[in-house]
Amino acid sequence: MGTRAGLSVMTVVLVSIWFLASIEFCFAEKSVFVRHVIDGDTIVLKKGTKVRYRGINSPEIPHKDKTGEPLGWEATKRNKQLVQGRLVRLVQDDEKRDRFGRLLAYVFLPDGRMVNEILVREGMAFVCFSEKGSSFSKRLLAAQREAIDAGRGIWSIPPVRPEPYYVGNRKTLRFHRPSCPYGKKMSKSNRVIFKSRSDACKEGFCRCKKCLP
Ligand SMILES: [Zn+2]
Repeated sequence: MGTRAGLSVMTVVLVSIWFLASIEFCFAEKSVFVRHVIDGDTIVLKKGTKVRYRGINSPEIPHKDKTGEPLGWEATKRNKQLVQGRLVRLVQDDEKRDRFGRLLAYVFLPDGRMVNEILVREGMAFVCFSEKGSSFSKRLLAAQREAIDAGRGIWSIPPVRPEPYYVGNRKTLRFHRPSCPYGKKMSKSNRVIFKSRSDACKEGFCRCKKCLP
């Protein structure tokens, strides 16, 4: 076999692998079947593809040596009620995958409602935007403000170890406890102080994964 023929065989093989790997998601853009719900913001599709809900963070469930957070299981249960064993439609924006290789998506029910938004509105998840923002940031933030004002779900219980103030980073859109080393690293121009956790969340800031304010 000549080099050229070899190369084209190789190309066909590579393209086929890529196609097979992405086929579940090709179908997914129309509708995909949710086989399993892992927690309040992660699901597994029929063929094993993991999908992480974009723009939100639900309270943690216990994982390895980490204890869970209040409402972690409730958020999981609510997510199950909404999507498990159902067909949903996935919509992506410019950030397609997270650092673990999971698909990042907004998940829509057949009736047109967005699951990410429902969970935030019911106080079962916090909004959490990346530095690039989110295609649905206005909608998600409006839902979060509504949940905070109505005291729903996570907003109905006092924060764990409340602080006299919180430190936000305008660049990363994350906020921290005053003692958090990640909070201390930022430049002064990016620093913003919030009196309470809900003040930070109303402005679209997301809790630091390390200090969990
Ligand atoms: Zn922190």
